[in-house]
Amino acid sequence: MDTALFPDNNSDRGRYLVLARKYRPRFFRDIVGQDVFAKIIQNAIRSSRVAHGFLLIGMRGIGKTTMARLIAKAINCEKLLDIASNTVEEQEIEPCAKCASCLAFEKDRHLDVIEIDAASNTGVDDMRQIIESCSYSPVCGKYKVYIIDEVHMLSKSAFNALLKTLEEPPHHVKFILATTEENKVPNTISSRCLKFHLRRIDVALLEKFIISVCEIEGIKIDSTAAREIAIKSEGSMRDALSILEQAILLSSNNYISDQTLYRMFGGVKSDDIMPLVASIFSKNAAEAISIVRKLYSTGADPRSILSELMTAIHALSVSLVTGSPELGDYIEQAREFGIANLARIWKLATNGPSELSSSLPSIALEMMVMRMAYIGHFPSPEAILKQLAGWEAKPPSTPAATPCARAQPDRSYELSGELSKKASELFGSDAIHAID
Ligand SMILES: [Zn+2]
Repeated sequence: MDTALFPDNNSDRGRYLVLARKYRPRFFRDIVGQDVFAKIIQNAIRSSRVAHGFLLIGMRGIGKTTMARLIAKAINCEKLLDIASNTVEEQEIEPCAKCASCLAFEKDRHLDVIEIDAASNTGVDDMRQIIESCSYSPVCGKYKVYIIDEVHMLSKSAFNALLKTLEEPPHHVKFILATTEENKVPNTISSRCLKFHLRRIDVALLEKFIISVCEIEGIKIDSTAAREIAIKSEGSMRDALSILEQAILLSSNNYISDQTLYRMFGGVKSDDIMPLVASIFSKNAAEAISIVRKLYSTGADPRSILSELMTAIHALSVSLVTGSPELGDYIEQAREFGIANLARIWKLATNGPSELSSSLPSIALEMMVMRMAYIGHFPSPEAILKQLAGWEAKPPSTPAATPCARAQPDRSYELSGELSKKASELFGSDAIHAID
């Protein structure tokens, strides 16, 4: 990331700004992780081929409104209106931050940029009002820009009203629509817009950005903590900055460590989770439950426990298969437990997120670790196969040569059915599927 961070301090001197606002991109070069978007818009402005409608698609917190404002700012910048030409390098196409239009933007006071939240203005009357105002010329810029956020929330009649204007808008009007749910935007609308799918921001880019912000803010942060924030924010810049903001408030002496984040998320360290794994390996359900309860008492969240448990199961399985020496203390126990059983507890764990989304996540987790601890009691697929082989090796009780023998039921199938039935009674259907 070559981004020169440009904190937005000028317009709000002396006033506290949340990080998400302070580090909102003011130039295309500030945009993190959406290079394609920036390149296309800069090229469009350079070659005077700016579409009259844009549709920005992407998950919440990814920067759709920020991008929309940046388009509005750039197409109204007086300097860019003058220099727009193919002789200019695309990366030079940036709002000047000095002209009357740019300055109005910096102060959030641009009269020609109208932001509408479709979630609270869903009706056809709201849309008619907007459309009527389209006919008036812009006050200080070249274009009137309508930014409609959460556009999928508009009613059908509101969409129809918008469609007419979107088909042939006045030359001084641009629409920038933003949505989290592309499938709810009618094709008639989306096909008339230049569409951008904004991507989740890469973890490495977010991590780097967080470290840069901390440097500017005078905060010391462990690289592992920066990475943890990047992972937790799941590709959303807004979430990353809001988590960082909380971590700064929780930190002591402006230092964010792993411990700061554990306290914040009710997280679990991998060292804390290994005794739980060991109790599952030793088929000790009572101990497993007591460990889970001890983790709760230190503030650990059931989802964090499950997520660390899954990480441990994965790491041990990989170690068993590849022979890598990590988790040395537990690898022997894992070997004894067997890769097939590890696969079975993994299968149970993958159902975890949906079970934990119930209203009683802590109870759901206890039930889950209990079932995991019982899995070791259940015969492995190899043992079942051996038992089946033993059964087949026994001489049949009726003479095989007689024609009637063919009518005898298939006993091996019957045995497997009996085993399945018994297993199902003991361990529930998940345990059976886990054998598959
Ligand atoms: Zn300007």
